[in-house]
Order: sequence, then structure tokens, then C-alpha cells
Amino acid sequence: MYKINRIDDFEFISFPILDEYSNLVYGFTTRKGGVSKGNYATMNIGFGTGDSEENVSNNYRIMAEKLNIKIEDIVETDQKHTNNIRYVTEKYKGRAMMDPEYTEIDGLYTDRKNLALMTFHADCSGVFFYDPVQKIIGLAHAGWRGTVTNIVGAMVRGFVKLRSNPTHIKAAIGPSLGQCCFEVDEDVKELFLQTNIKFKEFMVTRGEKYHFDLWEINKYNMLKEGMKEENISISGLCTKCNNDLFFSHRGQKGVRGLMAGLIMMK
Ligand SMILES: [Zn+2]
Repeated sequence: MYKINRIDDFEFISFPILDEYSNLVYGFTTRKGGVSKGNYATMNIGFGTGDSEENVSNNYRIMAEKLNIKIEDIVETDQKHTNNIRYVTEKYKGRAMMDPEYTEIDGLYTDRKNLALMTFHADCSGVFFYDPVQKIIGLAHAGWRGTVTNIVGAMVRGFVKLRSNPTHIKAAIGPSLGQCCFEVDEDVKELFLQTNIKFKEFMVTRGEKYHFDLWEINKYNMLKEGMKEENISISGLCTKCNNDLFFSHRGQKGVRGLMAGLIMMK
């Protein structure tokens, strides 16, 4: 389940399961509403993607303004396809990337207000978490590696360690490669099945290739941590099938921009 929100020509995705909470400011950006051109058109949030830095800076500013988030309140991940998560506070604002101890962090969570968590995406899932009882937010970058190594499970355990009851946690799995387009060879298939033979239920074979449903695997991993089925929502949007709306690493053969996931409590 998802909703496309439009503010002028800026478009972002939200999720009905989280939209009911008026204290949340959040969204998953699309390609719409920025100034970049060509393969990066138009809302590219990624520095170092090959796009002009000026355009990315402008996009970043537009995105923050439209979502009503101050750039100085943002804490970004340092994504390396790990299952590492980090509890962050105000001291991480803006300077996270300069901290030598702050590396290889694919998921962030906090109970602080006015602290915006941010991840980057082009086919990998952004998984948004919220505990409305204890007021804790989390955001994970879960590509296939983060899915196999269960970053969403790590996030739920992080919330519980802080003080959550897992039955209260809500989660939304954002736009990313669907089973239609997540195609792998024998080696990756083996990695999945060695991790958990149960993942075979989320796999189909097409000729020599294997297709896993990463959305359902992430959901399964969250259920295993004690979350409730009705508290987990899958957006169902495949980034490669919807390349006009989203950047897709596979769909654009690596030459693409990045979208952002953002979440903050007011
Ligand atoms: Zn697809």
C-alpha cells in the first residue's frame, strides 16, 4: 500500500500505515521535482553518482524544503549493504559522515524529536519503522544483502533494547525491486537458502534464473521478531518496472541517481 503525494512538481511516496500519525514527517522521494538531467532526471539526491554536484545540492535543498525538514537536522546513513544499525542523537546531526567511528551504518533509529533519519536508494528497499507507543522511529536500507543478513530483525531488536514492545511497532517496506525483477544466479540463490531454507517459499525459478520476493522475506523476518502481520505494510512498487517514477540501478545499468528515504518526529 502506498500513496503518491504531490507538492507542485515534487512527488514523494508515503504509506497509509504511517500516514495516520500527525507527528511524523516522512517520505520516500521519486525522480520527480528536481533539476537534474538525463539518467539523473530529475530529483537525484546522490552525490558521487556522476551527476553535477550543483544539481544534487539544489535537489537536496528542494527535497528538504518540500518535506519541511531542515537540512541541519538530517542524519544520513553510511551505507555499505551491511546489517549494522545505529541509535543516533542530536550530536550526529550534520557531522555524521565526518565521524571516523560512524561507518558502515545501513540503519538508523532514534527517540529524539526533530532529528531526521535519511537513507539512499536505487532498487534497495527503504524500510520505515515507528513505535507510536514509545515514540521511536527507524529507517533501514535493505538491499538483497541487507535482507539476507536480516537488517530489519536487527532494527526490531534495537527498538526492543531501547524499550519497545514488538507488537506495537509499525513498518512500511518502500519501493524497491519486486520479485518480478530481482533475478539471481545459482550462487546467490544458494546464499539465500543456506541462510534459511524457508526462503525457498519466497522463490520462483525462471529458466536458469531465480527470483526471490525480498518484500515478503523482510516481512517474514519482522514477524519472526514478534511484530504483528497487520502492522507490516508492503508498498508493492517495483523500481525497475516503474523507471519513469524511480531510479533503478538494474533498469539503468548502473547509471542512475538516488532517491531518499526520510523520517522525523515533530
Ligand atoms: Zn519489476
